[in-house]
Amino acid sequence: MAKIFCVANQKGGVGKTTTTVNLAAGLAKVGQRVLMIDLDPQGNATMGSGVDKRKLALSVYDVLLESASIREAAILSEKCGYHVLGANRELAGAEVELVALDHREKRLKGALAEIADDYDFILIDCPPSLSMLTVNGLCSAHGVIVPMQCEYFALEGLTDLVNTIKQVHANLNRDLQIIGLLRVMFDPRITLQQQVSEQLKSHFGDKVFNTVIPRNVRLAEAPSYGLPGVVFDPSAKGSLAFVEFAREMVERIQKM
Ligand code: ATP
Ligand code: MG
Repeated sequence: MAKIFCVANQKGGVGKTTTTVNLAAGLAKVGQRVLMIDLDPQGNATMGSGVDKRKLALSVYDVLLESASIREAAILSEKCGYHVLGANRELAGAEVELVALDHREKRLKGALAEIADDYDFILIDCPPSLSMLTVNGLCSAHGVIVPMQCEYFALEGLTDLVNTIKQVHANLNRDLQIIGLLRVMFDPRITLQQQVSEQLKSHFGDKVFNTVIPRNVRLAEAPSYGLPGVVFDPSAKGSLAFVEFAREMVERIQKM
């Protein structure tokens, strides 16, 4: 049965989408069957996986509103080696439409139950908010991967996310846990980043992943080619780090 992970952090631009698509590509590369779900109306993870969000016949929106199954709506990105359940602007409307529906927090979870055996990993790219969309992601998942930059306010921003995860754990999903904090866009030359990184490790111990993702321009360039860095330039430092992270995740799930 697939292990399901949300990539979440309510802070914008911290590297959620970059983490989701590159981890998906890294896992595919090491032989895992992967579904990537874009839960963000920005559709960046969709575009960054080589799927045109403007041309989606069916998307995660249809799945949330139960007008399509995941099997019907997911598309194989051949270049990337994983399936994509895409998103676009239409998803912004789901937020409002879901409010009126039963089990609104568990729509995605219900849809995932049908396909759990088709994959080893399901990764969900969350929007930069703690909205109903993110809650749907959290309700579906076994764990949360939190990408973060080692900056001064990084720890402070974590409090809201940790509280939301605690609430979802208590009320909606007893399986949910933080799998780990992933240090991204890391620049070891910056002393402050080293200090925050040390703080993270002393606060969160083995909840901090061993792998560190460096700041690497190839990772930033890749989306404009509709590819994760891991596929666009496999030998770039950032890409190698994400494949390493994929291996670390495969090891972690064996202990779950
Ligand atoms: P949002 O909150 O808007 O969804 P996000 O958390 O998904 O944003 P990304 O879109 O992944 O963040 O990253 C923000 C920007 O930083 C992008 O331009 C991305 O290309 C760049 N970026 C992410 N990771 C790295 C990295 N390791 N090195 C260099 N640039 C990076
Ligand atoms: Mg994003």
